[in-house]
Amino acid sequence: MSEKATRKIAFIGSESYPFVKTGGLGDVMYALPRSLTRQGCEVRVIMPYYNCIPQKFKDKMRFLGSFMMDLCQDGRAFFVGIMETELDGVVYDFIENREFFDWGNPYTGLWEDIPKFCFFSKAALSALNYLEWSPDIIHCHDWQAALVPVYLRTRFAPTPVGRARSILTIHNLRFQGICSIGHLKYWTGLPDYLFDYPVFKQSEEEANMFKGGLAYADRVTTVSDTYAQEIQTGFYGEGLDGHLRYHREKLHGIVNGIDVDIWNSADDELLPAPYDAANVLQKKPENKRALQDRLGLEEDDKKFVLGLVSRLTDQKGLDLVNVVFEELLDENTQVVILGTGDPRYEGAFRYYESQNPGQVCAYIQYNESLAHQIYAGCDALMVPSLFEPCGLTQLIAMRYGTVPIVRETGGLKDTVEPYNQYTDEGNGFTFDRYEADLLLDAVNRAKELYLTDRAHWDEMVLRDMAKDVSWENSAKQYLALYDELREQE
Ligand code: ADP
Repeated sequence: MSEKATRKIAFIGSESYPFVKTGGLGDVMYALPRSLTRQGCEVRVIMPYYNCIPQKFKDKMRFLGSFMMDLCQDGRAFFVGIMETELDGVVYDFIENREFFDWGNPYTGLWEDIPKFCFFSKAALSALNYLEWSPDIIHCHDWQAALVPVYLRTRFAPTPVGRARSILTIHNLRFQGICSIGHLKYWTGLPDYLFDYPVFKQSEEEANMFKGGLAYADRVTTVSDTYAQEIQTGFYGEGLDGHLRYHREKLHGIVNGIDVDIWNSADDELLPAPYDAANVLQKKPENKRALQDRLGLEEDDKKFVLGLVSRLTDQKGLDLVNVVFEELLDENTQVVILGTGDPRYEGAFRYYESQNPGQVCAYIQYNESLAHQIYAGCDALMVPSLFEPCGLTQLIAMRYGTVPIVRETGGLKDTVEPYNQYTDEGNGFTFDRYEADLLLDAVNRAKELYLTDRAHWDEMVLRDMAKDVSWENSAKQYLALYDELREQE
């Protein structure tokens, strides 16, 4: 067996597609292990056995065994069951305990979720010892698995799993697992010194699980380079900027990819006219007309169709869109919005639709098939986020030959190279400060190129489709990081 084939990686996190997914974390927990497996790693994903996992997956799982595990300060012991299944070469081990995981969808509220993930973190490490599977690297995700690096260096240090090195990835810094010091002390059963300032202590009364994990992990990653820099500042740091600056030597940014099998315009059953780079210029107008027809817009493939696919929240920069909405419109332009969220934005976009029939469509729903059709049928996609750890919609847009218009923040900055009209390079249109006029200016620059210099626009469409936005690229960077850590053993 080659050296590469011997890398053993355990992923520990609270959700993974296709079993349970509530957000981007679920996608990463699915796609990255698959990609690492293809690159010769042996990967096990450890997650809770939630009651809400669809029965068709439960039916395929086998019971590997169970044991009792002490957890709390007073030595309370809990049942740990292990269920296993395999998918595309990746082994999934599910931690079973009905008291913690039989309710919720899968999360409930922080008060219950904190004991749940204290249990899960410790049980995941205990399960690895029970299975006698000793990984080189334990890759933990978000606050729910942030206790793992702490347990690893304390309670589990003298056990077989204690030889592993740990990585903690920040997908969303907004959620940190903060509670009273007493609550966390009780449930973790960890020693008092860990509740001092450099580890869990958040304030005189509060403890922060993410903070402890960031302190104890051997490496910390987040989902883009720019976001790794941004979270060390007060504006983006969610109160942990000082802590992250202190640990900056071990902080890295690795941008996410997208699943290029799911997002494949050449073989996408949801598209009226599938296409690849060889025929995109002929097929896009066909997809555009089908989209206009489906959404009740004036059918005209000469129009510049501007899309937005997004959760409708403040993070996504929708207040900027709201301010300049009327100015985005002219006789050459149509706007399509797909999203749900804050009623303030839902109402505003519905209003613009009612005022501009045939020209604006606000589709206030979560609709996977329409999302595919929008990526294929639009000319450009707006992503004007206030902050964006990585962002997937701009990657999908590029893969579908739709030009992204983005604010230069987080992963948007790292993945969209601004168009340079003098050298004819770049992938999209960008703006820097969080100002509505700058968004409008970026849209107008895009529109002008589309309407007056189609040859250069089309070249950008082809450049975007040729860009590598797959997971393979990111997986290689994670592999390099794993190897760097292994060499330090
Ligand atoms: P976030 O995870 O912050 O919501 P991302 O850009 O990382 O943002 O991922 C958003 C994903 O959700 C993309 O795959 C996008 O296509 C999808 N999406 C967002 N809103 C909708 C919607 N209303 N209908 C269908 N898909 C949506």
